Amino acid sequence: RAKAGETGCISVFTDVDEVGLLERREIAKAFTSADFKSQLKLVYQPIVDVDTGRVVTLEALVRWSRDGDTLLPPAEFIRLAEATGRIGELTDHVLATALDECPAWNWGCRLAINLSAHDILRDDTSDRIGKIIEQSSAPNSSITLEITETALLSDYRKAAANLTALRAIGLQIALDDFGTGQSSLSHVHNLPIDCLKVDQSFARDLVENERSRAIVGTILSLSRHLGLQCTIEGIESLSQQAVARSIGVRQMQGYHFGRPVDAETALRGLQGSEVAKFALSGFSDLGT
Ligand code: C2E
Ligand code: MG
Ligand code: MG
Ligand code: MG
Repeated sequence: RAKAGETGCISVFTDVDEVGLLERREIAKAFTSADFKSQLKLVYQPIVDVDTGRVVTLEALVRWSRDGDTLLPPAEFIRLAEATGRIGELTDHVLATALDECPAWNWGCRLAINLSAHDILRDDTSDRIGKIIEQSSAPNSSITLEITETALLSDYRKAAANLTALRAIGLQIALDDFGTGQSSLSHVHNLPIDCLKVDQSFARDLVENERSRAIVGTILSLSRHLGLQCTIEGIESLSQQAVARSIGVRQMQGYHFGRPVDAETALRGLQGSEVAKFALSGFSDLGT
């Protein structure tokens, strides 16, 4: 509940009462001048194909910590980065770091990176991103870029042109948090994308809420008709997994399969695949 009339930096905080104004100003200021190289860390969360038990993608998620303290969740400091003009630098850093420390493609797994709305509206986006990937050993075809629907709304044409350019160099595009933004079917139909990621809010009450099941089923069928992949986010329990699978969803992400972990642990998971065991243990419950 940011107060109107305060500066852009302040208004990004969701609860004005939680932290003192001074402290919030200090945190915002600290982020504005934060050294990304030493203070931003990446964690990786698997997306699993529950039919094979294999991790198909690792999604990189950024964390900001200073002197060992986590000061803000990413959704908040990313808004700060956007407001202070540092988002391009943040995206480049995340992409380069993930490519360097998490070569998931060596294990036949994709690497996914989140882009901000600002990235997708810049004219130099595909050049910039293409160059960073070129400097790594990753084949373009192993990289997915995740963008939210809301990122497309302010300038749909420019966003679509950028997505086309990114796909032209072999990258895949996933529409993140799908179903919560102002989704327009004609947009989805016309957009150059590869995958819909069903927002985690639908997973939350999947077991008890028939409407959520209907929506997930509809998004899955939409994705099939359009030749897109479909992933559901936020699966936290075996029963949610079983219901999602009974609807027909195969690709899932959520705490039930694995929390975000550092690169080393994530890569070890690809080899030993504890995640795979998790996924398969739910398999016997399917169809109930
Ligand atoms: P997202 O891309 O939709 O990522 C999913 C978020 O849900 C992550 O939160 C993840 O930790 C969380 N999550 C995963 N599984 C579960 C689950 O089973 N239950 C619940 N309750 N939550 C789950 P996180 O890491 O706090 O990130 C929040 C958002 O911040 C991301 O949403 C993404 O939009 C943004 N973000 C994170 N890293 C980056 C980045 O490097 N660049 C940009 N531009 N945005 C990022
Ligand atoms: Mg994402
Ligand atoms: Mg999401
Ligand atoms: Mg999200």
